[in-house]
Amino acid sequence: MAGPKQQQQPFPSVTAANIFVPLAVVLMLWLLGQSPPPPPDRYSQFLDQLQGGQVAVVQIGADAIAYALKRDRLPVDEANGQRLGGLEPFRELHTTVPVPGDRALVPLLRQVHVRFAAVLPAPTPWWNTVLSWILPAVVFLGIWMFMARRAGGPLAVGQSHARIYAEGQIGVTFADVAGVDEAKAELEEVVDFLRHADKYARVGAHIPKGVLLVGPPGTGKTLLAKAVAGQAGVPFYSISGSEFIELFVGVGASRVRDLFAQAKAKAPCIIFIDELDALGKSRTAYGGMVGGNDEREQTLNQLLSEMDGFEPNTGVIILAATNRPEVLDPALRRPGRFDRVISVDPPDWKGRAAILRVHVKAVPLSPEVDLEGLARRTPGFVGADLANLVNEAALLAARVARATITMADLNEAIERVVGGLEKKSRILSEPERTRVAHHEAGHAVVGALMPGAHRVEKISIVPRGLAALGYTWQVPFEERFLLQEDELRGRLATLMGGRAAERVIFGKLSTGAGDDLQKATDLAEQAVTLYGMSRLGPVTYERMQPSMLDATANPRRAMGPGTAERVDAEMRRLLEEAETSAAGVVRHNEAIVRALADELLNHEVLEGETLRTLLAQAALPLSA
Ligand code: ADP
Ligand code: MG
Ligand code: ZN
Repeated sequence: MAGPKQQQQPFPSVTAANIFVPLAVVLMLWLLGQSPPPPPDRYSQFLDQLQGGQVAVVQIGADAIAYALKRDRLPVDEANGQRLGGLEPFRELHTTVPVPGDRALVPLLRQVHVRFAAVLPAPTPWWNTVLSWILPAVVFLGIWMFMARRAGGPLAVGQSHARIYAEGQIGVTFADVAGVDEAKAELEEVVDFLRHADKYARVGAHIPKGVLLVGPPGTGKTLLAKAVAGQAGVPFYSISGSEFIELFVGVGASRVRDLFAQAKAKAPCIIFIDELDALGKSRTAYGGMVGGNDEREQTLNQLLSEMDGFEPNTGVIILAATNRPEVLDPALRRPGRFDRVISVDPPDWKGRAAILRVHVKAVPLSPEVDLEGLARRTPGFVGADLANLVNEAALLAARVARATITMADLNEAIERVVGGLEKKSRILSEPERTRVAHHEAGHAVVGALMPGAHRVEKISIVPRGLAALGYTWQVPFEERFLLQEDELRGRLATLMGGRAAERVIFGKLSTGAGDDLQKATDLAEQAVTLYGMSRLGPVTYERMQPSMLDATANPRRAMGPGTAERVDAEMRRLLEEAETSAAGVVRHNEAIVRALADELLNHEVLEGETLRTLLAQAALPLSA
């Protein structure tokens, strides 16, 4: 339908395009007019006439010659026998000079006794100079403005491109987000900050300025940020980190300034910076020697100084999202900046069922559809995959013009979504899941029994991102700063627990323990070379602080080849002992490892009471 924007306008609107395009055309014509095509040259004819004594006077210019023939040499008009131009004293003829400054010309002129003179160069009119300098500049300015306009609004180069959603416009609330209950609970608090800022101000509490959402792609970080704004009923400024980075250095920084200025005027409100990693990459990691990225650095510095610059409790809260927290500049995490970090994890099957329920609200489901069964069959799917799954099923139903979505549609949709994901290897086959479950159970059992063990809080076989297929989360009973020797060995054994379980249960190893081995080897190396916890005695072989200038240099002290061999041997001994003790624990508690793994396969995540009861039955073998 024709909206008001499409109505006929009484006057042609003045835009950069319809001013500057004609101007450019005029300029080009003018440039062409500057150099008219030269007339056919008659220089040789002129020389002939000169030598034949026909020329009366000559005026020599820089690149043209004007001359007049003697009166009696003017051509005769055939019709009446009169000499052409006969009434004038002489007629001027022109020729161009083929070679600038023909040196033979002057002697020739003297020889034939012709009067000659040079012409004073005509002064260039002032407007000519002005035009030749200013007009091109104006045209370039026009083109630049035109491009800036296309990128967003007249002269918008420095302005932020934040999409602004006024309150009530967002249309997303916490009810639309599911399966990420912990993140939601923490964000409820942020909503309260926005709603009742005065309550916090009264008791002198500082509301956090920045909250960072961290999680793999598609887990609903953007959705959560919108939901916070929707729930609090405040305006929402959204911009993506990559949009700050522009061609022109300094533009990103002025966008940040602009964004904050706008937001402060609208407080309380939320600024959401998506893909913060595009902007906030560690400055040291990429800058320094190779020059770095000035634009990104300036933009990041501007962001940091804006965050420092506004008072707490102004009612502006900055949410940011990233799936690569490890590349972020540490300066972003300092107090007063993004000091709150909320992890948005991939959902377990219950979470997946909840997300499915959110997304099927808008589609007609046939009654036999079993969402829980669907959730159990889609391990590794994140919210975005599940939304995609429901949509694919709806497309399938629509293709055959069926009114409702059936279980068969949903099953086929799983295949399609998995097909799209396979490259990312997020979906584990059943035997692989079984292996990961036993591996994690091994970590948990060994971890719970070792000296100085941390409490095993949660085990999960929900794949996280691309690297970890499962994880065991241990929380220290108390804050620890020192590690005793037996505790260090216990930690080594815990790291070996996954590998030990794979060996005991399946009789074979897999590559799944690679990361564990890496960590264990690092720790064993430190035990030997840094802490003197080996037969090498109280000697340190490592420099605590490798020189800043020479980070690539080997941080180890110079040591004799014999010592180096002994260091390696000691490390190996520590690691082998750790593996042996881990294998002993797993063998002794095999039933519990299997029980834990079964629970894990059923529920994907184990925590709380169930986990504690199972682990409480585990015991150290007598030999240990
Ligand atoms: P991220 O920003 O973490 O990459 P998005 O928030 O952009 O993920 O999620 C993309 C889409 O996937 C959302 O618009 C929503 O439809 C769906 N989605 C993702 N996570 C969830 C969730 N936890 N609950 C409901 N829907 C979700
Ligand atoms: Mg996102
Ligand atoms: Zn492991």
